[in-house]
Amino acid sequence: MLGLIRDFIWPRTCPVCSRPSDRPGRHVCSECLNRLPFCPTDGVCRCCGRAAEALSGEFLCTDCRAHRPSFDRAASALQFSGDARELVNAFKFRNRLWLRDDLVDWLEGMTRARFRVDEIGTVVPMPATLWHRFDRGYNQCDYLARALARRLGLPCVRRALRRIGHPKRQGGLDEDARRENVIGTFAVRDPSAVRDRTVLVVDDIMTTGSTLSECAAELKRAGAARVWCATLARSLRT
Ligand SMILES: [Zn+2]
Ligand SMILES: [Zn+2]
Repeated sequence: MLGLIRDFIWPRTCPVCSRPSDRPGRHVCSECLNRLPFCPTDGVCRCCGRAAEALSGEFLCTDCRAHRPSFDRAASALQFSGDARELVNAFKFRNRLWLRDDLVDWLEGMTRARFRVDEIGTVVPMPATLWHRFDRGYNQCDYLARALARRLGLPCVRRALRRIGHPKRQGGLDEDARRENVIGTFAVRDPSAVRDRTVLVVDDIMTTGSTLSECAAELKRAGAARVWCATLARSLRT
C-alpha cells in the first residue's frame, strides 16, 4: 500500500529510457529489461562460468585448466556491457542505491539457476578496499549480499572477511600481475562462520576472477568446504 502511494506521488522512471516504469516496485521497465545482456546459463565453464559459443553443457575452459581458480564455481547475472554496465556503475559509483531491488532480482534469479541454494551455509560480501570505503562511504557488495541472503533465507555474515594491505588497482594489469597483486590481501575475521561450510561470496563485477580466487583461497585456509562466487556482472576479458 505504501509503495502504491509512493508510486503515485513520486512515479518511478526507468533509468534506461526515462519513461515511467511499468513494473511494480521496480525501476527498469519491462521493455528495457528484455534487452539487458543476461549471461547465458548453458555452454559455460563449470568453474569460472565464462561462456564459449561453440560449446554446450558444462566444461572446464582453457584458462581454468591452466590456472585453476581457488573458488569452486563462479557465475554472473549480467554481462558488463551496454545498459547493464550503466546500471551497475550507477549503483556502484553514483550511489543509486534505489536500484538495489532491480539488481537483486537478477542476482537472485541467477543464484537459484546456477547454484544449489540448499547447500549454501553462509553468504559473505566481498569486503571493500580501504580506498573504496573512504571514497564512497558504503560497500555496495554489502547491500547486495544482505538483500540476496534475506531472499534466499540464508545467514549473511557481513564481517567474515576483511582486506589487508594496499594492492595496486587491478585495472591495466595483465592476468599474472593481477594474481600477484592480490596475494595475501584478505583475512578471515570470523573462521567459525565459514568452517566446513559452502560459502557464497557476493561481488559486483568479476573481471579475470583473480580477486575472487584469492578471497576463496583465504576462506579455504580458514576451513571453508567450498567457495562459490555470485557476481552481478561479468566484464569481458581483454
Ligand atoms: Zn525503460
Ligand atoms: Zn573457466
